[in-house]
Amino acid sequence: MYHREVQHPIHITAGYAFHPIAADRLVTLRKELLAFGADRAMRGLTLLATEGINGTVCGSAEAIGAWKEFLVEKFGPIVFKDSTADAPVFKRWSVKIKPEIVAIKIDAVKPAGPHQHLSPEEWQKTIESEDVTIIDARNHFEVTVGKFRGAIDPHIQSFSEFPDFVRTSGIPKDQKVLMYCTGGIRCEKALIAMEQEGYKNVFQLEGGILAYLKEFPEAAFEGECFVFDKRVAVDQRLQPSKTFGMCPHCSDPCTLRITCARCDHPAMICDPCNASLYRRTCSKNCAEIFRRDARKNHLATAKSGGYGER
Ligand SMILES: [Zn+2]
Ligand SMILES: [Zn+2]
Repeated sequence: MYHREVQHPIHITAGYAFHPIAADRLVTLRKELLAFGADRAMRGLTLLATEGINGTVCGSAEAIGAWKEFLVEKFGPIVFKDSTADAPVFKRWSVKIKPEIVAIKIDAVKPAGPHQHLSPEEWQKTIESEDVTIIDARNHFEVTVGKFRGAIDPHIQSFSEFPDFVRTSGIPKDQKVLMYCTGGIRCEKALIAMEQEGYKNVFQLEGGILAYLKEFPEAAFEGECFVFDKRVAVDQRLQPSKTFGMCPHCSDPCTLRITCARCDHPAMICDPCNASLYRRTCSKNCAEIFRRDARKNHLATAKSGGYGER
């Protein structure tokens, strides 16, 4: 048996920059970023588009420090959202070229530098002292894990539905609106979409929930913050969630603890999947085998003269 060395905590950072990148530079830049992370045993997902860069990555403290310096050198100031975990929160290191670094699917929505930002301190002061409407710009399943007290949930399934929500929301155009998301990037586009609809008094939480919780744990944000990696969510202290798991069948956050109907391992699944017999299993693989075995047993019963018994 060999002993594993005590691991230092894994450092995680999320950041984005809207910074024009020439289309013919994307492939070279991708290779450069891939090599940078591979050399330092980093893991995570970074998106590149002609509008900029967006990513969440993890690695040693040194690697993450170097990554931040590297990005700032290339793309200018970035508000990084940091947290830690005991183990890597991604399986692999990947850098992908996409049409957008956050997909709203409207060409006219083009952020150009920080616009109508409130720091966590300014946000806190404003919600405590003014009559504001707070909008959560995230998808419905994220909102169910935690949200700002009193915030509107637009009930969207994907971010590209946000502009439709704005059009039909009925929120007065002169109302002061405060908007937030996980790390700020979705609001950069959601805010422009609102302004294009005639809203004049919209602000976004700079750095999103992750930046807010760092300054104001156990304050106006209630519950946990969904994140798109193995942690599923982070708690008020930005620690990996102990409450939420990720449903192996549909990838939604979930809290229901079960014993796999096929292999007896403990697992967590979501309520809707629990309503489906084969999904009371620990994995897609177990669900598939459970379904196949059930079908086989059914056929065997039929062949062995099961007909007519009932
Ligand atoms: Zn599910
Ligand atoms: Zn199983």
